[in-house]
Amino acid sequence: MHATVEQNLAAISARIAAAETEAGRAPGSVRLIAVSKTFPAADMLPALAAGQRLFGENRVQEAESKWPPLVAATPDIELHLIGPLQSNKAREAVALFDVIHTVDREKIAAALAAEMRRQDRRPRLFVQVNTGLEPQKAGIPPREALSFVARCGSEHGLAIAGLMCIPPADEAPGPHFALLAKLAREAGVESLSMGMSADFETAIAFGATHVRVGSAIFGGRG
Ligand SMILES: *Cc1c(COP(=O)(O)O)cnc(C)c1O
Repeated sequence: MHATVEQNLAAISARIAAAETEAGRAPGSVRLIAVSKTFPAADMLPALAAGQRLFGENRVQEAESKWPPLVAATPDIELHLIGPLQSNKAREAVALFDVIHTVDREKIAAALAAEMRRQDRRPRLFVQVNTGLEPQKAGIPPREALSFVARCGSEHGLAIAGLMCIPPADEAPGPHFALLAKLAREAGVESLSMGMSADFETAIAFGATHVRVGSAIFGGRG
């Protein structure tokens, strides 16, 4: 028998609590984003019944086809966009998401600022940093992160809540999490979105405030 989504959520929550204690951090200081990409709306029902409210999607279109009826029924759902954002999707992203983790260039910052004014909505924003300088990966290079966070405020009037990273799959994640935490301290932002199914406990040790866990909750994506 496979473990159920409820059992997986309980197990992950217990591991988060243990990692918080181990790191000497306050209980509840880490928030769990259940990454629901590729899983259908029906699979969200057991997670919602278990009390899970933060969900992560990596594609705007998929989220639009899945979440509006669920959000209508459960208004305290908090939707997080964790995938790359194109500026021509800024309108939909601002309309649907409560938190956007993937601000990584001037054009996106400008598009988000314009939509936030137009819609009078204020999603919380994270800047994605490409800590491994991987060419195929989104995110601003670490050396440009501080000036980019500053320009989001000075040029676009955007308050940045935190930083986000996805370490290279074939490297130990610790140094990447440490770098992101250092950049966040220097930038004066409080939140750190880092850690996935395979490494969220390490991320918590390095100060993660938001962990993004998919397969360990919903199962493999095939
Ligand atoms: C898919 C995804 C996750 C979750 O990955 P798992 O290994 O399934 O936990 C986290 N963050 C981002 C940006 C993702 O795209």
